[in-house]
Amino acid sequence: MGTKSIPSGFRQISRHDGIFQEREHDTYKAKGKFPEPTVCPQCGAVFHKGRWQWRQPPASAHEETCPACHRIHDHYPAGFLSLKGPFFLAHRGEIMHLVHNEEKRERTEHPLKRIMAVEEQDGPTPVTTHLACGIGQALHHAYQGDPGVLLQLAENLLRVSWMH
Ligand SMILES: [Zn+2]
Repeated sequence: MGTKSIPSGFRQISRHDGIFQEREHDTYKAKGKFPEPTVCPQCGAVFHKGRWQWRQPPASAHEETCPACHRIHDHYPAGFLSLKGPFFLAHRGEIMHLVHNEEKRERTEHPLKRIMAVEEQDGPTPVTTHLACGIGQALHHAYQGDPGVLLQLAENLLRVSWMH
């Protein structure tokens, strides 16, 4: 991953511990390998014209799990967003609302970009999502705070920490 794809404001650090790399393979980069139309039986996204979209599936559609649901099933996320700090804890409800709104906005256009899991707990909150960078930036816009540390765990696997 080149520096051109790192959103501005993030400090990037790399790690090569191989923990995630050994599970990295092409299953999740399945662009174009689905017959058209294909509907995902889990979430209802439809593969049409080379990409996943929200639309009415034709009656004759193939059924195959989309890459996002596949990742959720395998517990193989595309990214982690770590939310912490005293400001976050004091405004947790409001901030999580923004996080979910940001997801809603993105997944309207891009069905595969979604939040896969939020650990609902009182302390620092890990969010598993494709949208770690986008949400981190949205939080920084709304509340400032640390723009985030971007840790590249493997190709296509990021962790963003937002602290405030
Ligand atoms: Zn799906």
